[in-house]
Amino acid sequence: MKKALATIVALATIGLLLGGCAKKDAGKGTIGIAMPTKSSARWIADGGNMKAEFEKLGFKVDLQFAEDVVENQIAQLENMITKGVDVLVIAAIDGESVTKVLEKANDAKIPVIAYDRLIRNSPYVSYYVTFDNFKVGIQQASTLESALDLKNAKGPFYIELFGGSPDDNNAYFFYNGAMSVLQPYIDSGKVVVGSGQMGMDKVSTLRWDGATAQARMDNLLSAFYTKRKIDAVLSPYDGISLGILSSLKGVGYGKGSTAMPFVSGQDAELPSVKSILAGEQYSTIFKDTRALAKQAVQMATALLAGEQAAVNDTKTYDNGVKIVPSYLLESTIVTKENVTQALVDSGYYTADQIK
Ligand code: BGC
Repeated sequence: MKKALATIVALATIGLLLGGCAKKDAGKGTIGIAMPTKSSARWIADGGNMKAEFEKLGFKVDLQFAEDVVENQIAQLENMITKGVDVLVIAAIDGESVTKVLEKANDAKIPVIAYDRLIRNSPYVSYYVTFDNFKVGIQQASTLESALDLKNAKGPFYIELFGGSPDDNNAYFFYNGAMSVLQPYIDSGKVVVGSGQMGMDKVSTLRWDGATAQARMDNLLSAFYTKRKIDAVLSPYDGISLGILSSLKGVGYGKGSTAMPFVSGQDAELPSVKSILAGEQYSTIFKDTRALAKQAVQMATALLAGEQAAVNDTKTYDNGVKIVPSYLLESTIVTKENVTQALVDSGYYTADQIK
């Protein structure tokens, strides 16, 4: 009897091992990818790039976009968990809203990769793949620093600050990185925030929405800039930059002798690249979504093989419950001077696309 039981246990163990191996060796399975929205081209590229990479390796992919509606994203994730995907790759709309659904993923033994945006307050995030977000903020502000020649010019220069979505952990990193460059100039009086509105609680833009930013810029211009000109605007994302530029154009900036203020951005989205070439938006930050997608794919395949994924940061991204092991990629400043070199020579866009 004992022997029979031992045999059953041994067989079951072999079965389990084989089960594990089968998954590992075949390397096939389904990857659930949850992206926030199609309203920004970068997420379409992120999702598309990952899908292509995973499919090349023989995986099936369930790719979903949630149009920036938190409840949609949660429903999509629940659905993927029910269907039994093998790994979840999530760019959260709201970094704090998926905690519950991640418990379900954990119950179903589905590992989770946080993609570009940190998932907060959950122990069930295996890895985080993103860019060096603090550095992105530094890069954004340093384009304004050089455009205004802050190191040498006397000033004062009048600027306004815009932040990203308050429910996105990245927004704080971008803002803090940018302020690490701008704060000393503000302290010395060389740079003046005309409205006095500083800090993420005052300058954030819910869901990174361009129209929301445009409305805020309209208000700032009519309240603080009827008697003086504005010299620059810190913008954390191209969609927000375009809203700000519309508002500025609406009151006559960029025409005749009224120069367009320097406006930063992020993501090198096509409308902004064209705006930069047209001399309107001043800068953007290029984050190569192809590289990000590749890194996420490597993380997922490592997880499925029961191996450790490559990480290069184990200190920065504390999600409130744990420090999530991360892989941070580098980003590139883009201004009119290097559009072709950064975006066309790298194969990110064709010369025709940016015309
Ligand atoms: C991303 C940025 C993007 C922003 C708005 C952030 O989480 O890191 O690249 O501009 O979301 O989509």
